[in-house]
Amino acid sequence: MAKRGLNVAVIDALSGPAEMCSRANAGIIAVGHAKAWAGPGAPAAMINAFAGRDPSVKVTRLTDPTLWRWGVEFLLNCSPSAHRRNTDKLQRLSRYSRDLAAAAEVEMNLPAEIRHQGGLYLFQDKAQFSTYVASIEDHGDGSVEVLGRDALIAREPGLSGMSGRLVGGLFSATDSVGDCRLFTQRTTAYLNQIHNVSLHFKTRVIGLRRANNIIEAVQTNHGDIPCAAVILATGVETSDITHPLGFRATIYPVKGYSGTWKIIDPAGVPTIPYVDETELLAVATYGRKLRVTAIAEFAAHDRSVSEASISHIAEYVRQSFGDAVDLETPEFWAGLRPTTPAGPPYLGRVRMFDNLWVNAGHGQLGWTMSFGCGELLAQRITGEQTSLENVSATASWLV
Ligand SMILES: Cc1cc2nc3c(=O)[nH]c(=O)nc-3n(C[C@H](O)[C@H](O)[C@H](O)COP(=O)(O)OP(=O)(O)OC[C@H]3O[C@@H](n4cnc5c(N)ncnc54)[C@H](O)[C@@H]3O)c2cc1C
Repeated sequence: MAKRGLNVAVIDALSGPAEMCSRANAGIIAVGHAKAWAGPGAPAAMINAFAGRDPSVKVTRLTDPTLWRWGVEFLLNCSPSAHRRNTDKLQRLSRYSRDLAAAAEVEMNLPAEIRHQGGLYLFQDKAQFSTYVASIEDHGDGSVEVLGRDALIAREPGLSGMSGRLVGGLFSATDSVGDCRLFTQRTTAYLNQIHNVSLHFKTRVIGLRRANNIIEAVQTNHGDIPCAAVILATGVETSDITHPLGFRATIYPVKGYSGTWKIIDPAGVPTIPYVDETELLAVATYGRKLRVTAIAEFAAHDRSVSEASISHIAEYVRQSFGDAVDLETPEFWAGLRPTTPAGPPYLGRVRMFDNLWVNAGHGQLGWTMSFGCGELLAQRITGEQTSLENVSATASWLV
């Protein structure tokens, strides 16, 4: 929006940028992993989660009515055709976004933090690997390569510590990786120097002042900020703002965990980011840091870091990279992925207002899709031809 010459006020309740869900995520621009969670296999996975049989998917707030509303919509999106439709939206958004990410650092003259070196998807189970390989969509660009165990280790020697457990993997050439929080902090510093951007941290939005179908001002704990248009990019708190206006965004906070370790032997850890599809963990390195993320926990807005969850991650690191990192000083974190039942984010104008827009609900792919979603919304708001059509989650209150 600022690039298009508009005056932009960024308002955030926290003390700085990327302090909520973007704080310690895996940082993978995971184009090869852009798949809707809701799909034919998901109901069985949910039953396992309810029964407490899966350490990577947990339901700890069964009585939460929001979870049940969300769950019904999730189940309605589990048919093969809905899964294909939603995955197609996520893939188009991710590929578009990834191309913009590559240009963003250059455009803002930021130090190169994002590495465009591809990403790996690893398997420890033969049957799972074969099923996955059979399901890969060929985009006709040779962007996905199937690798047996030896080829995998040859491509990424940092995986040799876990070679005995691996059966094979896929290399997605279109994936990238970078520290999302660091990138966001640098972007904010850049924006701070631009005359048409003002930053309002430690400022909580408590409402939107409306006159008929126009939002006139954003009401905050520090007073009103007049506006010509509003974009709600408020993650899991979006419904707190939209509900008093008469519509609800179905976004569930799906808790995930990360652990970050200091690397002591760079040769013993991977440089290419990967997702372990069998154990459902993501692993990435930035400089001297190794980060491992995992777990989808349905625990309403509880952000506490549970001992059982972090020991699951810590055990994986000990087994896979125990000699290469300092096992004594990990930092653990939990974040709430703003997740829609279908998968794609809400991206568009709220039907009953002329100037209220939403960009929220990016789930497990918020960093991956961020550049594209921002650009698409700016195109829509300024009346330009949009680069992609039909990528938003379906919402009766959104156009
Ligand atoms: C463990 C884990 C690993 C992940 N790994 C990846 C990955 O590898 N790749 C990837 O693409 N994605 C990943 N994600 C997902 C990604 O981190 C999220 O999708 C993304 O951070 C969501 O960003 P957001 O800005 O929409 O929401 P948030 O980061 O939650 O930001 C919302 C902001 O809105 C502000 N806000 C809300 N309400 C108000 C209000 N009333 N007033 C003022 N401010 C308000 C909050 O203060 C906050 O700063 C991961 C997530 C987790 C938890």
